[in-house]
Amino acid sequence: MSLTKRDANGQLRVEDVALSDIARQFGTPCYVYSRAALTAAFAGYQQALTAHGVAERALVCYAVKANANLAILNVFARLGAGFDIVSGGELARVLAAGGNPAKVVFSGVGKSRSEMRAALAAGILCFNVESASELDSLNEVAGQLGQRAPISLRVNPNVDPKTHPYISTGLKTAKFGIPYEDALTLYRRARDLPHLEIHGIDCHIGSQLLDPAPAAEAATKILALVDALAAEGIALSHIDVGGGMGIRYRHGEDGEVAPNAAEYLAPLLAVLAGRREKLLFEPGRSLVGNAGLLLTRVEVLKHGEEKNFAVVDAAMNDLARPALYDAWHDIVPASVPVDAPQKVGASGTAVSNPGELGGVRKRYEIVGPICESGDFLGHDRDLALAEGDLLAILSAGAYGMAMSSNYNTRPRAAEVLVDGANVHLARRREEIAQLFALESVLPIPP
Ligand SMILES: *Cc1c(COP(=O)(O)O)cnc(C)c1O
Repeated sequence: MSLTKRDANGQLRVEDVALSDIARQFGTPCYVYSRAALTAAFAGYQQALTAHGVAERALVCYAVKANANLAILNVFARLGAGFDIVSGGELARVLAAGGNPAKVVFSGVGKSRSEMRAALAAGILCFNVESASELDSLNEVAGQLGQRAPISLRVNPNVDPKTHPYISTGLKTAKFGIPYEDALTLYRRARDLPHLEIHGIDCHIGSQLLDPAPAAEAATKILALVDALAAEGIALSHIDVGGGMGIRYRHGEDGEVAPNAAEYLAPLLAVLAGRREKLLFEPGRSLVGNAGLLLTRVEVLKHGEEKNFAVVDAAMNDLARPALYDAWHDIVPASVPVDAPQKVGASGTAVSNPGELGGVRKRYEIVGPICESGDFLGHDRDLALAEGDLLAILSAGAYGMAMSSNYNTRPRAAEVLVDGANVHLARRREEIAQLFALESVLPIPP
């Protein structure tokens, strides 16, 4: 489903709420999420799992790191989701949002002992262990608590996910997971450790995967291991195939083609058909990415000889993906004039589609106010802009707010969750005093 629609007045809406109303009430920059879009994305997974007859033995564990706002976690908890966490902080969030700890898997290459203790105390479903050293420390921590820690080994299937190198995680060269060749040895070692209980196996080969084939290939390799383990008497009760399903960031002819959940899961579930193990999934981006946008206001227009700049009030500290991965986000005006007289574009042609254009278009660099040349949100965008206009930066629900910072002492944006005609303030805009409240100057005298 599309997150936004334009009404007859040229106003861009999320569900029943105009973005201009949100800007008026909550200010900008502001992340805007849609409960209906979150629900639809989760339903996409559930429907695909039902269609393949595996819904009963499947658990979708939302990868919290994509967007950790409590309101979002709570929406998924209400839908019955599990959670994939990568820190003790994320565990605390899941618990605060009403998530069920018995549906939590804990991933990550560097879990601390205190994080292990917290997860054991909460009673999580499984630790996704990523190294021999972690097996030993987890065994020790569980022993101290008089518990047996449920574990899975994150195996690195050495499959190329064909995605951006920064978000590719399943190759031999990655810091993640256990080399495929070492997996059997480590499972034997885990079997011999008294305070561990072997539950499963997991993998996660990368993110923003547009082609489902690598995930299916990884699953094939994982199944070979599951069968080899069974032959040694190590029976696994679940197979966790990770997350990674890609989403469409760029619409229109030049855009990427992204699979929906049914298309992405079909080859994977074909590989997993006829098994009796439980199936776990860890989607992050595909559940939230297109359920959110970043609303921003044009502060300054600078028209130069070479380039035109639109300086907006959102920046790389709010949305790092363009600066970090050179990622594309569609950027559209939040409102366009519908009854304005037809204007003539630079080329002399009439601009006749106000729903898209709204006036005379120029080619802009959409940039933030931060002192970095890498602080851009979009290059070469053809838009008709005036200072004060609102822009929606689309597909910003995943790894947007989650990767935000206070760089340049910029308070983090507000976050709202639209639910029908209601707008729920999911996170207040930060205040400047909060940003240095934990700091202190040297005592006097000198
Ligand atoms: C990041 C991550 C995910 C989620 O990846 P998406 O591409 O957002 O679906 C799942 N599992 C693990 C272990 C991760 O690190």
